Amino acid sequence: MTSKRLLAWVLFAASQAALWAQGQSPPPPPDFAALAGGGTTAYERLSYLCDRIGPRPAWSPAYARAAQWAAEIMKQDGLENVRLQPVEVPVWERGSARLLMLQPAERELPILALGGSVGTPGIEAPVVVVKSLDEVGPQVHGAIVLYAFPMSTPQDYGAGSRIRSQGASRAAAFGAKAMLLRSLATASLATPHTGMLHYEEGKPQIPAAAISQEDADWIVRLVNSGVTPVVRLELGCRTGGTKIAHNVIGEIRGEKQPEEIVLLGAHLDSWDVGQGAHDDGAGSVHVLEAMRLLKLAGVRPNRTVRAVLFTNEEFGVDGGKAYAREFGDERHVAAVESDMGGFPPVGWSVNASPQLMSWLWPILASTSLPARQGWGGADISPLASKGVPLIGLVTDPTHYFDVHHTHADTLDKVNPEHLQAGAVAMARLAWALANACEVK
Ligand SMILES: [Zn+2]
Repeated sequence: MTSKRLLAWVLFAASQAALWAQGQSPPPPPDFAALAGGGTTAYERLSYLCDRIGPRPAWSPAYARAAQWAAEIMKQDGLENVRLQPVEVPVWERGSARLLMLQPAERELPILALGGSVGTPGIEAPVVVVKSLDEVGPQVHGAIVLYAFPMSTPQDYGAGSRIRSQGASRAAAFGAKAMLLRSLATASLATPHTGMLHYEEGKPQIPAAAISQEDADWIVRLVNSGVTPVVRLELGCRTGGTKIAHNVIGEIRGEKQPEEIVLLGAHLDSWDVGQGAHDDGAGSVHVLEAMRLLKLAGVRPNRTVRAVLFTNEEFGVDGGKAYAREFGDERHVAAVESDMGGFPPVGWSVNASPQLMSWLWPILASTSLPARQGWGGADISPLASKGVPLIGLVTDPTHYFDVHHTHADTLDKVNPEHLQAGAVAMARLAWALANACEVK
C-alpha cells in the first residue's frame, strides 16, 4: 500500500470510528474467521449429531435427543433464553419395502418409499413410463406409473420435486395403482432418494416410491424396445397420529434494540435414512457455530440475534409454521436460513421487498459474498407473510443432490473447512444485520 493510500485509509477509518462513537455507524466487525482460529468445532458437533444421534425424523426418539443436545450446547455457549417450543407433528413410519421386477427378468430393485406414502401388501402391474405430470392420461389406468423425469443438474430439482409431490394424485385420478419416481439426483450409484409427497384431497391415495436412476433408465430402455415390464411393489408404510416435537431456540440479547430480532435458522430434523449430515445437520451446526463465534467476539450486538433450530421441515414444515404463529408478530429485522448443505459458501439468496432490498444490499456485501434475489428457506418461509426479509445461505450446489435424502447423506461427505466457512459467513451476516443502521 502506498503512503498516500495508507493515509487515506487511516483518515477513513478514523472518520468511521468517530461516526461509531456518535452512534451513526455500526461498530467494526469482529474477525470471525480469526475467532474460529482454524478450529473444527462445527465439524465435531456435526460428528456427534450424525454418529451418536443419527437420522432424526421429528416424531422419533432420536429427534428428542437431538433437541436436548442442541439446547445443552446453546446453554454451554452462553446463549440466553434457551427454550424448547412444543410443536405437534404427524407420525409416519416407513416400514419394510420391496420392489420385484417380474418380467422380462426377475430381480429385486432398491427402493425408498416417498414420505407420506400409504402402504400396500402387494401390487402387481405393468409399468407405464411418463416424463412429466402433463403426460399422464388414460394410458396409466391399472398400471404402475414410472415418472422418468430426467434430473441431471441442481436447477432441475424444483421441477422434479413438483412431480414427486403431485405425481401420485395425478396418476391416481386416471386409475393408476401405484407410482414410481426416477430419483431426483445429480449423480447416482444405484441409490434411491426419498422426499415428501402430497395427496390431493378427494383423490384415491396410491403407494409411491423412488427407484434409482439406473433402474429407471433400464425400465425406459425396455419400454422403448417394445417390452412391457411387470413389477410387484410391497410397502409397509403407516401414517398414524401425532407427537410433540420441539423447536430449539436461544438468543444473544441485543444491547440497544433488544426487541428487534435477527433470526438464524436451520432444521434439526432429517429423513429417516442416512445421517442427515448435509440436510440439514450442516445447517444446524452452522447456526450453533455462528452463535458461538458471536459470543466469542465479546461485543453485544445492537439487536437480538436468535438461533432457531426448527423441527419437522421434511414432513410438513410444522416447526416453521408454529414459530411464525407464536413469535411471528415480534419485530424480525431479517431471517437467515442454512439448508443447502455444508459445502463452500458462495452467496446469499434473498426474498424481500424492493425497499428492504436497498437496505439489505450493502449489509450483504459486507460479508464479501455475492447476493441475488431468490428463495430464502422453507422453515423461515412462513415469516414472509409478516413482511420479514428472508435470506438463504447458498453453498456450492454441485454435489448436494448426489446424496440428498438418501442413505448416503453421511458425515464422510462433509469437509470440515467448508463447513466452518459456512458458519463464519452466517456469523458475519448476523453481526452486520444486528448492527446495521435503522431499517428503511
Ligand atoms: Zn433440508
